[in-house]
Amino acid sequence: MDKNGYVYADNAATTRVCDEAVAAMMPYFGELYGNPSSIYSFASAPREALANARATIAKIINAEPDEIIFTSGGTESDNHAILGAAYENAARGKHIITTQIEHHAVLHTAKRLEKEGFTVTYLPVDSEGRVDPAALEAAITPETTLVTVMAANNEVGTIEPIAEIGKICRERKILFHTDAVQAVGHIEIDVKAMNIDMLSASAHKFNGPRGVGFLYIRRGSKVRRLIEGGGQERNRRSGTENIAGIVGMATALSYAHEHMAEEAARLSALRDKLMGEILKIPATSATGSLTHRLPGIVSVTVEGIEGESMVLLLDLNKIAASTGSACSTGSLDPSHVLIALGMKHEVAHGSLRLSLGRYSTEEDVEKIASTLPGIVERLRMMSPVWNN
Ligand SMILES: *Cc1c(COP(=O)(O)O)cnc(C)c1O
Repeated sequence: MDKNGYVYADNAATTRVCDEAVAAMMPYFGELYGNPSSIYSFASAPREALANARATIAKIINAEPDEIIFTSGGTESDNHAILGAAYENAARGKHIITTQIEHHAVLHTAKRLEKEGFTVTYLPVDSEGRVDPAALEAAITPETTLVTVMAANNEVGTIEPIAEIGKICRERKILFHTDAVQAVGHIEIDVKAMNIDMLSASAHKFNGPRGVGFLYIRRGSKVRRLIEGGGQERNRRSGTENIAGIVGMATALSYAHEHMAEEAARLSALRDKLMGEILKIPATSATGSLTHRLPGIVSVTVEGIEGESMVLLLDLNKIAASTGSACSTGSLDPSHVLIALGMKHEVAHGSLRLSLGRYSTEEDVEKIASTLPGIVERLRMMSPVWNN
């Protein structure tokens, strides 16, 4: 709860920049403003900061520093990985495998490739949102050059079997990309152990600043660059580096990684408590997996009412929640993720996501738990599809 009494429970959409990151960034907005590409000594501090941030981030995911490319965030990293791999390997084949529950940064990129003559397989998931590695293996053809499967889903919190998928892809010599934007900083990721060739991450999903992220590309992977220019990032992603943002990202990730185990335990307990309270409301059910799930995400459906109405009334009670995906705000279509989980349209319309994070407290959970039942009751009384 902040000083105005507002409860923020939408950490899967974005997070508050942590104080450690803000403090680490400040000097690079101030006197340390040199361009790291300049050779004079005035630029040595930002140049070193860039190298340190790269080394810090690489170590946390068990990569090498030269395998990390700084980007503007998750969306750019996903575009770079998918388009770059598809274009660079097009002579070998034009088939790509992904899933039905990816973020739009992946799905819309795949759609673009389809328009450009590629074939894309969108794997289904089970009712918990899990991809079946055997089904993925069966979908591979001699034309397949890239598999892209998210590490954890942003709407329902389900964690995917990416180590198993990585193993299959490595054996079949197919590039494996994972959109790990919801996973990095929250659950352990080891790109070597998991046989990951490319990984997307974004700072603002782990209490770093918005507008900065990174893409890991394993050495030797054939991936074409998207952005031409001054040759920064070893000519893989041009543009003067966002030093303050990159330093903030590395600082936030270090903190998150150092405290990962205790924070996951704390958040899982809060999540389970909140979920338990919500499920006491009649005709509600949990969405996603109860075993393979992110520590901070509570995803439920409430029969007879609309998710949007719940979000609006929660907002009137100073609670920030979501129906699932920030990106589909304004659209009346039910979430593609919930539909892929096999949910009927009318049930999917009643979805609610509450995502907890570093600044969530017991008090926040209690406020949500005491506010939501009244809101549901009120909306159901007005609902034409609910039998009171
Ligand atoms: C937020 C998110 C993105 C997009 O990241 P941006 O940094 O906002 O561009 C991509 N994938 C997933 C799974 C996300 O949750």
